Amino acid sequence: MDNRDYARVLSEIAALMQIKGSNRFRIRAFENAARTVETQAQSIEDLLDSNEITDLKGIGDSIAQDLRQIRERGTCDLHESLLDDLDPGLLVILRIQGLGPKKVKAIYDELQIVEIETLRKAAEAQKIRELPGFGARTEEKILSEIERLERAGGRIPLPRARRIAESIEDQLRQLDGVQDISIAGSLRRGRETIGDIDLVIATDDPAPIHQKFGSLTEVDDVLVTGETKTSVRLRSGVQVDLRTVKPSLFGSALHYFTGSKEHHITLRTRAKRQGLKISEYGVFSLENEDEPIASRTEEEVYAALGLDYIPPELREDRDEIERAENHSLPSLVDLDDIRGDIHMHTTETDGNASIQEMAQAAAERGYQFIAITDHSQDVRVANGMTPERFAAHIEAINQVDQQMPDFRVLSGIEVDILKDGSLDMDHDLLARCDWVVGSIHSHFTLSPEAMTERLCTAIDTGLLSCLGHPTGRILGGRDGYEYDFDVVIEKAIEHDVAFEINGSSGRLDLNADRARYAQQKGALIVLGSDAHSQRGLDDLRFAVQQARRAELGPESILNSLSAEELLSRVGKTRS
Ligand SMILES: [Zn+2]
Ligand SMILES: [Zn+2]
Repeated sequence: MDNRDYARVLSEIAALMQIKGSNRFRIRAFENAARTVETQAQSIEDLLDSNEITDLKGIGDSIAQDLRQIRERGTCDLHESLLDDLDPGLLVILRIQGLGPKKVKAIYDELQIVEIETLRKAAEAQKIRELPGFGARTEEKILSEIERLERAGGRIPLPRARRIAESIEDQLRQLDGVQDISIAGSLRRGRETIGDIDLVIATDDPAPIHQKFGSLTEVDDVLVTGETKTSVRLRSGVQVDLRTVKPSLFGSALHYFTGSKEHHITLRTRAKRQGLKISEYGVFSLENEDEPIASRTEEEVYAALGLDYIPPELREDRDEIERAENHSLPSLVDLDDIRGDIHMHTTETDGNASIQEMAQAAAERGYQFIAITDHSQDVRVANGMTPERFAAHIEAINQVDQQMPDFRVLSGIEVDILKDGSLDMDHDLLARCDWVVGSIHSHFTLSPEAMTERLCTAIDTGLLSCLGHPTGRILGGRDGYEYDFDVVIEKAIEHDVAFEINGSSGRLDLNADRARYAQQKGALIVLGSDAHSQRGLDDLRFAVQQARRAELGPESILNSLSAEELLSRVGKTRS
């Protein structure tokens, strides 16, 4: 660690103390110590070794002790206890330039915001500008800073990458001469976070397409451009690479640029043994490298290699090539298999559409049912419901349900699982509604034992239908909270409580590995969009893609059942 690392922890302590409202002389002491450490020419480690550290201005025995602990474990008792009292998510928020501890404190005090994703939503909903001392400018600054922080992490969450890519894809698709277009790369494979965006276009006349691509309004800078490839950097900082190929080569190019690298290496080695060669220009026999055997479609490429078609989500070089050879690839769930969505919010709490509007939008998407699941009161930032409001909300949901003859609107709630595992709502109301998502939105830093206990206690109420966003992780933000996954799976199976794959931007929780593991252990899996608007319903496709990466078929996904069948499968309604 260099001096800056020590200084960072000290100034985090100062900032956290300020948010907590500690004595201002102590805050000042840590601010001064951080400055001393940061500007010190000599290495802090050397000064600690030689016991000269307390010779520095503003470093007394107590802060010297903190520095020793920081050397040992990157943090110290004081730092840790502040994070326990407050929330580690605040450290990420404090990294937002121009915000500063005073403003972070205001956001924390007024809106209880401790994570970047909630902050983003609050800023997007224009709730930040209403705080005293804030304005529209600060709010916009916060949003662009969040973007910057994510980019600094190098990768962006899949849902956002897909929206960016699709908007460009839509504009290019309409151009003359574009015969086919597809997103490629890790985005097509459904990786959780994306570096660059890749697009492949089939055309006989590439020049005008490259020119148009470079002049899109989103484009900030054209990095390279040529006859077959143009790379640009968007204003949002994301790099997009466009390749154009002859229509006869579209399949092999798309295959090549979709990856993964590992999948291709294994495929090439295998092809060689068969006397074949594979490249972005097609599958060739080693005797005739001029004319490809296959190149027009990906299906033809795989068929020429003696393989079943491998969906992009499986191309990660696990065992998919072997299974494609033995015709034993799983058949994966598709958006068309989905008959309903079980996690969404309305204007009753922090959504921005009514029950009616959400139901209508879901019906338009071809669904047969939805569950309305607004927040319980512990989530103050989301205007969570008291029991009185929830009772009235159930009535309101049932009314909409009756108005829609061919569509089922299930009454539900996303109830908070409190610190001790109890549920943040009257039990008779939970028993009365159709669908209960149990979620954790606070106290993320319990020990794994306490967290396991908390989840098991909640499941033991027999009132949950599913666990919402079951690990609480935020993509590129917070790691999930830790608990004994096996124990909770067992408990969930005992009570027929499903695990959600939450498709909302920034979550994708459970991740593919955990979803596959839970399903193999016999747990139920259900997909939720966690929509807060009509458009948010489209996020269900990210949950679907996550399920595909988990190798799950429609038979493993409760959303492919009718509403009645779904309810009969989960424990809440059976007990
Ligand atoms: Zn939630
Ligand atoms: Zn939710």
